[in-house]
Amino acid sequence: MIRYPILESQLRRQIDELRPGWLDRADERTEGFRAARRYDESSGAWSEIKEAYMRLQGFKCGFCERRLEKSQYGNIEHDVEHFRPKAKVKAWPSDSDRADRKIDFDFPLGDNADPGYYLLAYELENYLISCKTCNSRLKANFFPVAEARTVDRDRSRDLNDEKAYLIYPIGARDSDPEKLITFRGILPIPVATRGHSRLRAEVTIRFFELDTREVLLEERAETILQLHVAMSAVGHPDPLTSQAASTAVDRMVARHSPHSNCARAFHDLWLSDNVLAREFAEESLNYLEAIVA
Ligand SMILES: [Zn+2]
Repeated sequence: MIRYPILESQLRRQIDELRPGWLDRADERTEGFRAARRYDESSGAWSEIKEAYMRLQGFKCGFCERRLEKSQYGNIEHDVEHFRPKAKVKAWPSDSDRADRKIDFDFPLGDNADPGYYLLAYELENYLISCKTCNSRLKANFFPVAEARTVDRDRSRDLNDEKAYLIYPIGARDSDPEKLITFRGILPIPVATRGHSRLRAEVTIRFFELDTREVLLEERAETILQLHVAMSAVGHPDPLTSQAASTAVDRMVARHSPHSNCARAFHDLWLSDNVLAREFAEESLNYLEAIVA
């Protein structure tokens, strides 16, 4: 995961330009939920502002950093994800996930809640874009927390006492994901050695299966190989090759490129511990060759 910096005021302005009047309609609906004390409507209106989040996140899934479709087809591939579930919240892991995925954390992860976070159905800082695997299969209506849930607040930034385990990547209201999760080669690992920061990283990695999904491992291995080759070619005597390599490196570590947290970790390691970086490049090469075989 990686942070997508933006001020809430900028986000509101972008949404107002994209869909004039949407913010007022959102406020009206929220007041209806406040009166009903639960989320209650036949269809949501957040897909109307999906494009603002798609552009902000560089057309990447906010959780697994895969690149998704741009243009008019992006609407099909991208889901607007409610970070805190708007309707019911289900305790994570479910019994089947505990058994099938062998999830066995030995600390509290929060209880069921009904209603869920009904005042956050239209809160801008409760949205992000994600792929269908992360959203529909893995995130679903789960939201693990370390402390008691508070479902009747209308601002996500007022909910820090819940000590959420999952990481919200947009703006600066949550910790920077790169300060919590980094990479050893293609594998995500916690940055912190202990405390809630470490548990957040462990839970997030397990929750979205960031360390086992083959498509993620394969794409990261490709990124590392390309980055290794490009970094090795910067300064090449042929000016075109050197310039192309330099541009390729800049693009791969850019926030809007797929798997940029992994790419940045490898980039920094390549400069600080080139021997270990080469080992990771070789592991990536072996990983990809084994797939081809
Ligand atoms: Zn994803």
